[in-house]
Order: sequence, then structure tokens, then C-alpha cells
Amino acid sequence: MQSNRRNFFTTLAGGAIGGALLPSFGMPISEEENRRYEKLDKVLKEPVLKKELFSTPIIIKEVNLLVHEGNFICKVLSEDGQVGISVSNNIRMHYLYPILTKRVAPFFVGKDARELDKLIEEVYTYKSNYKMQSYAVWVPVATVEFAILDLLGRIANKPITQLIGDTHNKKVGVYQANNFRGKSPEESLEGIKKQVEETQSKALKFKVAGRMGDKDLPEGRSEQLIPMVRKAFGDEMVIYADANGGYDVKEAIRIGKLMQENKFDFFEEPVPFDWYEETKQVKDKLSVPIAGGEQEGSMHNFRWLLGNNGLDIVQPDIFYFGGMIRSMKVAKMAHALGKPCVPHISGSGLGYLYMMHFVSALPNAGPYHEFKGFNNTIPFECKTSDLKVKDGKIDVPTGPGLAIDIEQSYIDKHKKVTTL
Ligand SMILES: [Mg+2]
Repeated sequence: MQSNRRNFFTTLAGGAIGGALLPSFGMPISEEENRRYEKLDKVLKEPVLKKELFSTPIIIKEVNLLVHEGNFICKVLSEDGQVGISVSNNIRMHYLYPILTKRVAPFFVGKDARELDKLIEEVYTYKSNYKMQSYAVWVPVATVEFAILDLLGRIANKPITQLIGDTHNKKVGVYQANNFRGKSPEESLEGIKKQVEETQSKALKFKVAGRMGDKDLPEGRSEQLIPMVRKAFGDEMVIYADANGGYDVKEAIRIGKLMQENKFDFFEEPVPFDWYEETKQVKDKLSVPIAGGEQEGSMHNFRWLLGNNGLDIVQPDIFYFGGMIRSMKVAKMAHALGKPCVPHISGSGLGYLYMMHFVSALPNAGPYHEFKGFNNTIPFECKTSDLKVKDGKIDVPTGPGLAIDIEQSYIDKHKKVTTL
């Protein structure tokens, strides 16, 4: 036994001596990868918020979460009485709210809003929030960030777009997202046709596989539906497919080849989202572009996926990834490598408005963006866009902050959320 132990340590020591060839904390990387990483790391050091728009400190006095009939509003108040408002991702916030009120909001009180880039980095380690890295911590952070950006936009009299970048896109093209899993290929196709008819969009996305390895039902649905959708919509239609991590590498490649034959425009989440090496293996074998990132909570993982050329299109979700500043860093990393960004958007509240401001600021926006319908339950006025889909596109609002005014009487119905 003792001899075995000694041999083990001798071997380890030998390995350490030859350590130059066997680095312990990272695989050796090629020159090409090295060049990619240099570009990515340069981007990560660049500020996103245009601090220079603000000459004096904007000290945050209060960050409050309010709720009314399942609608969560975050209200940020500055020392000199300015207000910023965001509407949260209500599907998630009704079970994440204690994280916002206890672990996120207190951090921002007393801080200078002009330091938002730094604050978003620091809130991650505040009270060990990194232990919750996923949308558990990032949806609350995004909710507060959006309210602060609304506040800053109102002070600077600029839309959020121009606080985090420049206006690259005045209109946003949308694609209709749907989910007809479990329905026959024929029924799925009818549903897709109906939705495309409603928005007149020039692009569509449909679901293939079963979510995260569930069965593809009815059996064989995806492989039948892929050619059917192309045939039904013709060569002009832009077609995307989303597997929600439903395949292993072998099956993803087989189905991906079908997509290639049918000239699909991207294949989203072919394998489980945190199978990074497998995502790259699939990408290396296919010519249909591979998209992913909606579940990602880690900047470093996006860096890996881009540094290793594991994705063709990045899809951070601006709520799930912790807001516009972090998502812009991902978009800019992709841009540095000549890749587009097509953000994912979780469908609730005013998610589509945040998506539009973000996309408007992207130099590398994809041509079409996810759209899950307008919100008709929150009463607000938008003076700078009719917020209608016309010819598959929506005008991006250009007023200050989020560029809308929510009815005050509706805001007043909301009560402050308190937790134990
Ligand atoms: Mg998806």
C-alpha cells in the first residue's frame, strides 16, 4: 500500500517536472485560438455604458420591487429624485423575487449609477451571488439594470440603445417563434403557417427533437417536418430550427445534414447547452450555422465557445444573462470574430422592447429576431413607434430610456414586495 502511495506521488512529481508539456490548468492552444482569445479579451476590457454622457454622480437612493397581479416592476430612485422603471421577466420573478430584494437590490443602494459596468461585475460576487450563477441571479440583476438604464436614459435624454452603443438598426426584423412539439408534422405545419400569416414575417423558427433529450414525438416528427417546412414556404423563406438540447452528437449531425439539404439558416442548441465540447464537435461536422447561448449564465463559457469556434451565432438572453451590458459584451466578442448575435428573448412582460433596444445597438445583429407577441396587459404610451409588425419589421422606439411611459395609475396599483 505504502509502496503504491509512493509510486503515485513519484508519478505526480514526474508529471510536474515535465509540466511545460502537460499544463495542469488548461489545454495547450493553437496560434489561431490564441489570436481569437486576444480579440475576445480586448473586447472584455472595453466599457459598454457611455459614462461620458453624465458629468456628475448619480447616486442610487432606493431600489424597490413592486408587484400587481403578477406584474413585477422595479423602481430605482436617485438621490436627486429621478426615477427609472423596468418591467421584469414575470414568468421567473414570481419565484426569484427574494433574490432581487435580498441579494441584488441592497448592493446598488448608495452606488453611482455611472459605474454600471463595474457594479454589474461586483454584484456577481456580492454575498457570494456567483453560487447562483444562472437566471436565478441574472434575471434579478437584469431587472435592476434595466431600471437603472431607464433612469440614465431619462437623465441623458437618450434611448437605452444610445447608452450602450450606437443606433445601428432603426427597425428590427422579427421571426415568429412557435412550439408544436407533440403534434404530427402535418398539424405542426398548419400551426406554423397560421402564425407566419399573422405577422407576415420573412423568417420562422420551429422546434425539432424533444427538449433536453426527451423523446421526439410523434416518432420521426422532426425528420419529416424539416423538408415539409421548406417545401411549404419555398426557397425565399428564412428557416431556423431549435432542438433545445434534444440530441446527442451523432443524432445532431444526422438531423443537421437534413437541415443543410433543405438550406436551413441556423440550427439552435443541437445538444444540451452545457455540452460545450459536443457543441463544437457538431459545429465542426456541419455547414448549417450552429446557434446557442440562451441558457448560458457564464461570460467565461461564452468566451470558451467563441475562442474554440464552437458557435456560429451567439444568442444571449438579455434577462437570463444579466442585462444589456453583459449581453453586449458577448455580442461584441462575436463581432470581433465576424459572427452575428441573435439574442434570445424570454416571452413575458416587456421583453420584446428590451430586445429591440439591444438589437438596435448591435453592429452584428442577425437579420431576424425572436418575437413571441406583444404585451397587451401593461398600459403604456409610446410616442416614437406604433410597435406594430409591418412587413415583418418593427420600428425601434427612440424616446428617452425605455422610450415608453407606463400609465401612472397602473404603476400606483403596484405594492412594494417585502420578504422575510
Ligand atoms: Mg431556443
